Amino acid sequence: MTTHRVTLIPGDGVGPELTEATRRVLEAAIATSGGSFDWDVQEAGVDVMEKAGTPLPPETIESIRRNKVAIKGPITTPIGTGFRSVNVALRFELELYACLRPCKTYPGVRSRFDDVDVVIVRENTEDLYAGIEFETGTPDNKKLVNYLNTEFPQNKKIREDSGISIKPISRFGSERIIRFAFDYAKANNRKRVHCITKSNIMKFTDGLFLATFRDVAKEYPDIEPWENLVDAACMGLVQRPEEWDVLVLPNLYGDILSDLTAGMVGGLGVAPGGNYGTDAAVFEATHGSAPKYKGQNKVNPTAMILSGMLMLRHLGEDAAADKLEQAVASVLGEGKSTTYDMKPSRDDPSAVGTSQYADAIIEKLEA
Ligand code: NAD
Repeated sequence: MTTHRVTLIPGDGVGPELTEATRRVLEAAIATSGGSFDWDVQEAGVDVMEKAGTPLPPETIESIRRNKVAIKGPITTPIGTGFRSVNVALRFELELYACLRPCKTYPGVRSRFDDVDVVIVRENTEDLYAGIEFETGTPDNKKLVNYLNTEFPQNKKIREDSGISIKPISRFGSERIIRFAFDYAKANNRKRVHCITKSNIMKFTDGLFLATFRDVAKEYPDIEPWENLVDAACMGLVQRPEEWDVLVLPNLYGDILSDLTAGMVGGLGVAPGGNYGTDAAVFEATHGSAPKYKGQNKVNPTAMILSGMLMLRHLGEDAAADKLEQAVASVLGEGKSTTYDMKPSRDDPSAVGTSQYADAIIEKLEA
């Protein structure tokens, strides 16, 4: 019998109630394979700021480094406190360079599309998210504008009142995310990897990403490499969703397209995610802490439960992951024990709460 030690971060807002539902479901899922979890519960978020002086205590990061696997509830980004997003800080601290967001239609989930099964592989550390910005009017901004305008006269002149963001995309960063996408495709019997860029306009950043994609693709002859421009990809995804498979994208396009594809399969309540690095992986839903629903036992834990399913696969527990996915699909498909957001009307009296929905999944797993 395998016991997996995993860092469990309940988060804040609706995080603790989603985490409790997810914990119970994951324990029932792994029990079907005779395994168990040994949870290392750690704090993060606005609720610990006062006590710890930071929303991301060092012990929490240490715990993830030690256990190498974590599942977390959403965490509010405090506004006006000088703290940046805990979620972004975690990805940065642990060098979680790959963000995996599978988006699949499950019967019973309301959506305009019924045949979506795409996987977004988003680069998590580079691009316009690197946070290298120069505010208009500052001495550094003026120096940079002057340098660019005088040293590169062949370029279009930059207006002096411009804000500037830098978009670094490296060969190293591109290669490791593209390799991750092809390895994922190979391990999961997917046919195609699409490289999504705007390489016709940003030749030295997106162009480098695409050139790296062409090189790496040669090492995976069984997987078809497709190249798409990001604007055409948005149109193509909604026109012919069945044509799309695994998508690998630089950070910003990945952020935008993962919300587009989440919307195509029923929205934030059902969109799971995993952040992977060389030494650790952190699993979390795509959505935030929905503070207005805190403590109401109301919101949908499917996204976090399916993030747990990704975690089971990462731990090598594929049989338990398959059973969990079947149980979730079956409860959603029956449509009886589902949360308010899965119902035709938001105040449908037949909606069940977060924990009753988890009970229905557990019942399927134990049947
Ligand atoms: P949000 O995702 O928390 O909520 C937006 C709306 O989406 C909610 O009001 C609700 O109507 C709906 N919703 C979200 N999750 C749902 C669920 N599981 N079931 C049913 N409905 C759901 O977005 P927000 O209000 O922009 O962000 C709130 C806070 O969360 C912010 O501080 C933000 O920075 C943070 N955030 C955290 C993460 C993370 O922890 N990974 C991700 C995104 C946002």
